[in-house]
Amino acid sequence: MPVVCGKCRSTKAEVQIPYARLNLCPTCFVDFFVARVKKTIEEFNMFHENVTVGVAVSGGKDSAALLHAMRQIYPGIKLVALHINLGIPRYSDHCQTKIEELTDMLHVKLHVFDLYETLGVKIGDFKKTSFKEKLCSVCGTIKRRIFEEMAMKTRVQVLATGHNLEDIAGIMFNNFLYGRWEQFVRVKPVLPPLAEGMASKVKPLIRSPGNENLLYCLYEGVPFREIDCPFSKGTGVRKSAEILETLARYNPYFKHQILNRFLEIMPLLENVKPKPSLGKCKVCGFPSSSETCAFCKRINLVKQLRKA
Ligand SMILES: [Zn+2]
Ligand SMILES: [Zn+2]
Repeated sequence: MPVVCGKCRSTKAEVQIPYARLNLCPTCFVDFFVARVKKTIEEFNMFHENVTVGVAVSGGKDSAALLHAMRQIYPGIKLVALHINLGIPRYSDHCQTKIEELTDMLHVKLHVFDLYETLGVKIGDFKKTSFKEKLCSVCGTIKRRIFEEMAMKTRVQVLATGHNLEDIAGIMFNNFLYGRWEQFVRVKPVLPPLAEGMASKVKPLIRSPGNENLLYCLYEGVPFREIDCPFSKGTGVRKSAEILETLARYNPYFKHQILNRFLEIMPLLENVKPKPSLGKCKVCGFPSSSETCAFCKRINLVKQLRKA
């Protein structure tokens, strides 16, 4: 006998939510998903409805689901999509096409930062540098910084990213294992602006598992990328994510428990490890704890290589 949806009790259930002991039909799943995103935004007081929110979109399922859900929850809010074209062969243009489809569908303005057109650098250029084994890490540093810059230029007060439950629990778990407390507190659901005129950063999908973001995209017809980045390889974070997956197999609540316990101890840690006071990068003027910021150091490395 087919399982009936636990919410409407009239349609066949298709989605199993093991940690909530729920079986849902597609319509009730979409409602459940959107309601949780809204609740998370309200729980952490992520923004008021009179601000401009920029959603950092990569082309992947998570940020695509985020942009779509935000539009449904706040039809009247000023929402823009921010995307970086990283110049990765085939992959980057594919991602941008999907995002253009999505933003057209939602009538959301899209701003694209083309890394090669603007800075003359492509992520693949780092293969010739000391970062060749750490392309994902270099890419992350560059993206974080460019999104900050894009948010300033587009007058976005709040920058929302599609980090999902596994991303956050994985990063927390990894930094916890290595005792990297200063990095540990950086995955808070809300981060205040680094300096005046900059955006605060929020993570509305912190409670949404990746597979549910995917299902949401499929049920709602949300376009997202269909190919994987040719440069992505197993990283430290991913290994600890595998540990989390293994443990979650025995305990469906595990990832949520990790997240909730870590969120509870977060305020205590901030008192133990105060952040160093931020200076400014001598090249770009962005807040930085060293003389030249990590972004400028990396971009410069590629430019120097080209000159040589
Ligand atoms: Zn239902
Ligand atoms: Zn700099």
